[in-house]
Amino acid sequence: MLTVKLYDEKPYDREFTAEVRAVGPMEGNRCRIELDRTLFFPEEGGQTSDIGYINGIRVAHVSIEDGVIWHETDGSADIKTGEEVKGSIDWDHRFSNMQNHTGEHILSGLLHRDWGSENVGFHLSDNIVTLDTSKTLDEADIDELERKANEAVYMDIPVQCRYFSPEEAAGIEYRSKKEFDEDIRIVTIPGVDVCACCAPHVARTGEIGSIRIIHAIKYKGGMRLTILSGRRAYEYTRSQHKTVEELSHMLSENPDTLPDAVMRLMKEIETYRLEKREADKKRLEAAVASAVADGNGIIFTGETDNITQRRTVNELAKSINGVCAVFAGDDLKGYRYIIAYPGGDARDAAALLKERFDAKGGGSREMVQGSIDGDEAEIRQTLNEL
Ligand SMILES: [Zn+2]
Repeated sequence: MLTVKLYDEKPYDREFTAEVRAVGPMEGNRCRIELDRTLFFPEEGGQTSDIGYINGIRVAHVSIEDGVIWHETDGSADIKTGEEVKGSIDWDHRFSNMQNHTGEHILSGLLHRDWGSENVGFHLSDNIVTLDTSKTLDEADIDELERKANEAVYMDIPVQCRYFSPEEAAGIEYRSKKEFDEDIRIVTIPGVDVCACCAPHVARTGEIGSIRIIHAIKYKGGMRLTILSGRRAYEYTRSQHKTVEELSHMLSENPDTLPDAVMRLMKEIETYRLEKREADKKRLEAAVASAVADGNGIIFTGETDNITQRRTVNELAKSINGVCAVFAGDDLKGYRYIIAYPGGDARDAAALLKERFDAKGGGSREMVQGSIDGDEAEIRQTLNEL
């Protein structure tokens, strides 16, 4: 027998009583309960189910099979067929779903009305809400869509839900139109959307508070929009605002001038980086000249980038047949090393450093690289053994 859907008529009720029709086992000690009527909306149409309690036992998921609604418990349930039970739904969870679901109707209705773009997918979970639409949209379209959706919220339009016979429904223009041989529930937001739908909605659009489109990507020839409505939109906006405030404070800038300030900083960093590379190059050229004069190709330098380090090793190897090494770093933090050994096998140098200093790294006969913790004088002495 079909379960009576109390949530259809009374989406704002939080508690109900019902008679147990059946109790079935599930894996573990969980079980599923069929009631004659319920306020629990099951997982359906891309939307996750209500959660809550039956006689104090937690209901973690609710499903529907051939019109019969099953309440799946978290653990064992001492409930018997024929018994009268008390159910309560998690209202915060439900209301959030009502806000987000009705927000989706507004966006889909506007996309249909003003862009001729159809809803081809919807997903509403506790973490994410996505809406797939059939046509591509550019940034200006998305801005306009979001603005119009929020205008529909401000207008506080009543959301009407009514069942129509198949004959009546045949004469109505609505989204998600299919052939039905039973009564069909049509949700109307006058001027914005008319759609066949079975889920709970808010009574007036003003209850949604705010609708945000936070992400849009091209998807299957159309778009996938990530959307947030109601409390979720508020919390997201609040959190983003906090981040901007924090950045403003760190950079001593107004939020409005943050992008320019960050751009300026990035340019400054790039200038410093190039200046440092030039200074490193000059310093290392002098070090190479001195190493070549001494006939010893081991150079210790401060932090330098990998490209300059490798170039210096190659320079050394042009004039020195022994170990040519550049250690970048210092005794305290350790060094990154690159070693070439024109007259031998560079891997021997890596092996010796591993043996004495537990250095990391490796490479080919021509060149090895890695990292090492150790004292400059001891490392020099060790490599001079080769
Ligand atoms: Zn709906």
